[in-house]
Amino acid sequence: MKTYDTIIIGAGHNGLVAAAYLAKKGKKVLVLERRDMVGGQVVTESFGENFKVDSLHAGGTLRPDIIKHLNLASHGLVVDTVRKPFISLQADSKHLVFDADPAKAAESIKRFSEKDAANWIPFLDFMNKVSRFVHSANAAIMPRLPKGFNASEGMALAKLGINVRMLGGKNMMRIIRGIPMTADEFVDEWFESDIVKAAVASLGLHGFTLGAFGAGTGYTLMHNWANRGGMSHVSVQGGIGKISEALAGAVRLLGGEIRTNAEVKKVVIKDMRASGVVLSNGEEISSGNVISAADPKHTFLSLVGAMELPPEFVWNVQSIKMRGSVAKVHLLTDGKHGIPDGTVVVAPSIKYLEKAYDAAKYHQISEKPYLEVTTSGNVVSIHFQFAAYKLKSGDWKTEGAKVEKIAMDTLAEYFPDLKPSIVNRKVLTPLDLETTYGLTEGDLNHGQLMLDQFMFMRPIPGWSNHRTPIDNLYLCGSGVHGGGGVSGASGRNVVKVLK
Ligand SMILES: Cc1cc2nc3c(=O)[nH]c(=O)nc-3n(C[C@H](O)[C@H](O)[C@H](O)COP(=O)(O)OP(=O)(O)OC[C@H]3O[C@@H](n4cnc5c(N)ncnc54)[C@H](O)[C@@H]3O)c2cc1C
Repeated sequence: MKTYDTIIIGAGHNGLVAAAYLAKKGKKVLVLERRDMVGGQVVTESFGENFKVDSLHAGGTLRPDIIKHLNLASHGLVVDTVRKPFISLQADSKHLVFDADPAKAAESIKRFSEKDAANWIPFLDFMNKVSRFVHSANAAIMPRLPKGFNASEGMALAKLGINVRMLGGKNMMRIIRGIPMTADEFVDEWFESDIVKAAVASLGLHGFTLGAFGAGTGYTLMHNWANRGGMSHVSVQGGIGKISEALAGAVRLLGGEIRTNAEVKKVVIKDMRASGVVLSNGEEISSGNVISAADPKHTFLSLVGAMELPPEFVWNVQSIKMRGSVAKVHLLTDGKHGIPDGTVVVAPSIKYLEKAYDAAKYHQISEKPYLEVTTSGNVVSIHFQFAAYKLKSGDWKTEGAKVEKIAMDTLAEYFPDLKPSIVNRKVLTPLDLETTYGLTEGDLNHGQLMLDQFMFMRPIPGWSNHRTPIDNLYLCGSGVHGGGGVSGASGRNVVKVLK
């Protein structure tokens, strides 16, 4: 039997980042991925002839320090430096355009409010400081509160406190107060126009099963802004999958191994210590350490098994809130769809956003959804919220058609040329997110990023430092602190705590 220093379960971007850093340290690393391709949610796939698309995450990039350390440019990663606009659609077609040039954005905002236009540049300045806070928080290894806490573990939090204080007293207070706020309250401190407020607040809902009046969407707004580096997505040349390909290239060049079509069925555990994995085909592979980049529920409840874990821990894992409510609709068109280039949203008012979320609350599909649309050549990609993973009636084997119809009807109100331009389509339901992409309950962040599931409470209180009750078994996916989103932070952090 071949033996490795470390086996990593899952070749999402976090698993690949961890693998590359370990290989760089000279460790013998094997990454095992259940799909036939690497990347997890960071993939560019083909759904038919001329129908290549970023299937899930639309644009985005890793932390610049990771790109540099792993020399990803030499593996073909090119991130666009020019940011496209973020556009909030308006019924009269005079859309609100947040251009990357702040002065141009302020000019567009002026149509809705002179005061909001004047506040735009100070708001951007504040959000830059917010991003510094979020990134330094994500780079910190959280202490194991309330379990086995020792003072040295608290240093990261103390340093974070100093970092946030260095942003200035007023900014520090605004950030701390902003964390538990609703997205509505957060934007209300800066803007008066409901249209401007809703466009900015939509970032706080993107990917989360929360409404604009939900506590903590102030934080998720800051999180998404920091991960994107602004409102609109950054494009990667050749598609977001190039990030994963470049990471895989780095892993291999540094001597690491990656196997696809290699689903892990079980983590091998003896006397509370992990010593390898068993694949679905029965093959056993041994290793000194095992790192799971899959979500914590799948890791502990399926791959480890409740029998191997302390009962209280199992209860906590079972209680992790996984509440997927995102669907994707990809449309291949003849190119005459009429949708502008950029990150385009249907988020006309704060109440609209909240009502769209109501559907998820009642296990339904939103009839008037919050949409975020991106285009790539002839392909239109629609991020649809809210479509509850657990439906009150019907099931996801048939309801995908409903999501597609609502998405197209909603967009057709703004772009009458869209429907006649469609030549092919692909819908990804929350169930597809689970079955195809391995996300429990279709939760793209491996667990909601709520106030009781973030920082030192992610994935569960007492186990936020990548370690687990099983010796030599670690976590590094989006379900631990540093995730979710595409930044690579949790993959980078686990390497710092590995024995
Ligand atoms: C539609 C959509 C929009 C998003 N938008 C945003 C956004 O705007 N901002 C933001 O911050 N984030 C966003 N996200 C979330 C973000 O993409 C994820 O948080 C991130 O990509 C997760 O990366 P990861 O490496 O932690 O996990 P994943 O990419 O989920 O990778 C985990 C990997 O583990 C594999 N795996 C699972 N189980 C096993 C097993 N038993 N054996 C072997 N392999 C296994 C899976 O196949 C997968 O490849 C979005 C996600 C989606 C789907």
